[in-house]
Amino acid sequence: MGGTEGRIGIVVPDFARTADKPITLSRWTKKAGQRVREGDRIAELMCDKAELELAAPGAGVLVDLSTSYDRELAVGEVIGWIDPSLEAWIWDPPPEHPTAIGRCRYCTALLFPGDLRCRNCAALL
Ligand SMILES: [Zn+2]
Repeated sequence: MGGTEGRIGIVVPDFARTADKPITLSRWTKKAGQRVREGDRIAELMCDKAELELAAPGAGVLVDLSTSYDRELAVGEVIGWIDPSLEAWIWDPPPEHPTAIGRCRYCTALLFPGDLRCRNCAALL
């Protein structure tokens, strides 16, 4: 349990016209740890040779993005998350830790996707 509370799931939409055709993930146009606003273009999906843009369902920080680029996706499948609670204090990750999503408010240790507590001071995030 845990890790997804308060988060907004990024789901594969039901593209009505092409629902019977396989949908695959082409690429993320934003990276994990980046802050997005609702409606921002965050990913490109491929369906029947057509490229479909996926918009952010809410504002926050992208975390736990799927890297299943070769697999057929199911409509309604969660392929990533937006964490609104991280939005206020996100910053650009240092180059040596590109997956870091922020720093602990209390001790400034690096935080990573999925962290519920600071790995350094154990503060609840
Ligand atoms: Zn800490």
